Amino acid sequence: MAKAKQGVALSLDMVRNIGIAAHVDAGKTTLTERVLYYTGASHKIGEVHDGAAHMDWMAEEQAHGITITSAVTQCPWNGHLVQIVDTPGHVDFTIEVERSMRILDGAIIVMDGVRGVEPQTETVWRQANRFDVPRVVFVNKMDRPGADYEKSLETIQTRFKNVAIPVTYPLVEACEVIHLIEGTVYSFGGNLGEEVAVRPVGDDERALYEEHRDNLIMTIGNYDEEVEELVLMEEEVPNTLIWESLKKLTAAGKLRPAFVGSALRNWGVQPMLDAVLKLLPSPLETPPAIGLDSDGEQVIIEMKSEEPLVGLAFKVQLFDGRRHVFARIYRGTLLPGDEIAIGGKDTIERVARVFGVDANRKERLLKAVAGQIVLLAGLRTLTTGDTFFLKDAESVLLERIEAREPVMGLAIEPMSAKDAEKIESALTKMTEEDPTLRVDNDEETGQQIIKGMGELHLQIAFERMSREFDVQVRVGKPSVVHRETLLKKVTAMGGVDRVLDTDALQMTLRCDCEATVTPLDRGAGVVVNCEPVWLPEGYEPTEEQRTAAEEGCSDPLVGGPLEGAKLEDVEVTLHRVITFGAGSSAQAIRIAAANAVRKAMNEAGGLLLQPLMSVEVVVPDENTGTVLGDLQSRGALILGHETQDGVSTITAECGLTALLGYATQLRSQTRGRGQFVMEFTRFDAL
Ligand code: GDP
Ligand code: MG
Repeated sequence: MAKAKQGVALSLDMVRNIGIAAHVDAGKTTLTERVLYYTGASHKIGEVHDGAAHMDWMAEEQAHGITITSAVTQCPWNGHLVQIVDTPGHVDFTIEVERSMRILDGAIIVMDGVRGVEPQTETVWRQANRFDVPRVVFVNKMDRPGADYEKSLETIQTRFKNVAIPVTYPLVEACEVIHLIEGTVYSFGGNLGEEVAVRPVGDDERALYEEHRDNLIMTIGNYDEEVEELVLMEEEVPNTLIWESLKKLTAAGKLRPAFVGSALRNWGVQPMLDAVLKLLPSPLETPPAIGLDSDGEQVIIEMKSEEPLVGLAFKVQLFDGRRHVFARIYRGTLLPGDEIAIGGKDTIERVARVFGVDANRKERLLKAVAGQIVLLAGLRTLTTGDTFFLKDAESVLLERIEAREPVMGLAIEPMSAKDAEKIESALTKMTEEDPTLRVDNDEETGQQIIKGMGELHLQIAFERMSREFDVQVRVGKPSVVHRETLLKKVTAMGGVDRVLDTDALQMTLRCDCEATVTPLDRGAGVVVNCEPVWLPEGYEPTEEQRTAAEEGCSDPLVGGPLEGAKLEDVEVTLHRVITFGAGSSAQAIRIAAANAVRKAMNEAGGLLLQPLMSVEVVVPDENTGTVLGDLQSRGALILGHETQDGVSTITAECGLTALLGYATQLRSQTRGRGQFVMEFTRFDAL
C-alpha cells in the first residue's frame, strides 16, 4: 500500500484549482496532456486520436475519443501545485462542467483559433459567469489554415461583451510567441516542445511587440487609475504593476487575459501556464463561499484550516468497484477516521480514507485542509451537491448544484435472471454518480427506462453496465421524453365520499374541493396556489390538513391527461375545501384536492410538448444544400446560415424526436466531415 503523505506539502497560496473548459474538439484534452507532460506529472504524451490520453482514462472515453468524466489531476509547476479538473465538452455532459465550476478558483477557456466562440464555449462561459470564476483564454489550433487570433478574441467581445486582451502574441511562421509583458520571445524545441528557449524581442518583431504591448497597457489603463496615470504621463509602466493590476482585473472579471498557440504542435503552452500561476487566484484569494446555517441565516465560510470543517461533495465515482467521493474542503481540516454529518440529511458517516487525486491514480493523505480538492473513501450516502461538516458541529448548507431534467429515454431489459439480480444495484450506483441519469418504470410494458441528456449519454451508460457492472441488457430504441400542458382554463369540483372498511378499522373519507387549472406560457414552469377557503365558515384546519391539501394539488402533476407525461407550464389553484367533520381527515383532503385537479385537467385536455433543441451544424460548403434540405424535412426552423472559407455554419431549432440518428445521417451526407451539436432549450409543442 502506498505510504500516506503529510497533507499538502505546500501552503495554500501556492495552490491553484483550475478547470479547463471549452467547446468539444477545441483541444482541452490535448492541452491538458501537454501540461501534465511539461510539469512531469505524466511521462509520455498520449494523443487523443490514439485513444491513449492520460485524462481520458475511462474505457468509454478512449473508445469514443472524448472526455466524459471530469477527473482531477495534480501537477507541480514552478514551486506551485496546480490541480486541474478536465471538464467534458460534449453537451450531454454539461452537468459535469457545472459541478466543476462550482468548486474551481479559476478556469482556462480553450478556443479553436479557426472557429472562435462556439455554442458550448457560450455554455461554459455562462456557467463560469454564474460562479464568477476568473478565467484566461487559450486560443488553440493556430497551426491550422484560417486561424486568426484577433478575430477569435473579437468573438468574445461580440458574444459576451467581455474584453479578452492578448498577453502572448503568435509568430505563426516560427511557431513562437512574443510575451507582451516580459518583452521576450518564446520558442519550443525538443521532441514535444519541452525545451523552452527565451530570447529578447528581435528588431523585426519590435514594431509588432510595441503595438500590442501598448494595447495591453492602455486596456489595463481603462480600468486602473494608477496605470492610466503613468500612461498619460508617458512614463514606463513597471511589469510588476502590470501583472498585479491584470490579476485584479481578471479576478473582478473585467479583463480576460489571452494566450495563444497550438497544443498539438507544442506551441505556446508553458508561458500560459506560468501566467496562470500569476493571474489566477489561489484558494486563499478566492472570495469566501456563502452558506446557510441551521436557521437559514447566511454564513460566510472563511477558508481557514483551524476553523470547523465544511466541505462540498461534487462528484461520486467508482474506483476499483468502490464508491469514492470528490470533495472540496471549504473550511477546516478533515482527517481519515473523522465522522461527518451531511447537511439536510439525518446521517452520520465515517470517512475511512482521504486521497490526493490524480485521474485514476490516488495517493493517501493524513489530512485535508481548506482549499484542497480530495477524494474520500468509505462513504455510503454522501453524494453530489451535499455539504458536510464534523458530527456535532453546527450545520451548514452550501448552495446545491442543480441537476438537469433528462430529455431522452432508453428501455432496458435484463438478458437473464442473473442480470436481473444485479441490475438494481448497478442502476443505483450509476444514477448516484450522475444526477442527470434517471431510472423510471414503464407501467405498461414493465420495462425499466433509463433517462438521460442525449443519445451519447445513454449509450455510454449502457456500455458501462456491461463493462463495469457485468450486467447484460437488451435495449429498445431511444425515445424522447415528453411533457404535457393543458389546452384551456377549467374549474372543477371533485371530492371523495367513501367508507374504508377493513378488518382492523372502519373509517369514512369525506371531503369536497374546487380547483382551477390554467395553461401558462412556454417556459413558465409549474405554479401551485394553495390558499383555499376552508368551509364551513370559521373552520380551522390543522397543519397536517394544510399540507395534505398542497400535496393533493401537486399529486396529479406527475401525469397529464394525454399520455400520462409530466405536466409543464400549468397553474393549479385550489379555491375551496369543504370539510365534513371527522371524515375530512388529511388523507381525505389530499384525495379530494387531487380529484378536483384531475377532473379539471381531464376537461381541459392535454397538449403534447417535446424537447426543442438548438442545433448548430458545420459542413463543407458543397454539402450545404443537401444538409439544409434534410434539416427542413425534419421540421427544423433554420435560424441562420453563414459561409466562411468554404465552411458553412447552420443554426436551427428542431424537435429532438426528428433528430434521432441525425449524427449518422450527417456523417453520410458529408462523408464524415460534417459536425453538429445540439442543446436543449425548452419543452414546446411542435
Ligand atoms: P477536446 O474535445 O476539447 O478535449 O479536444 P481534443 O484535445 O480531444 O482535440 C480534438 C482534436 O483536435 C484532436 O484530433 C486533436 O488532435 C486536435 N487538436 C488539438 N489541438 C490541436 C492543435 O493545436 N492543432 C490542431 N491542428 N489540431 C489540434
Ligand atoms: Mg477531451
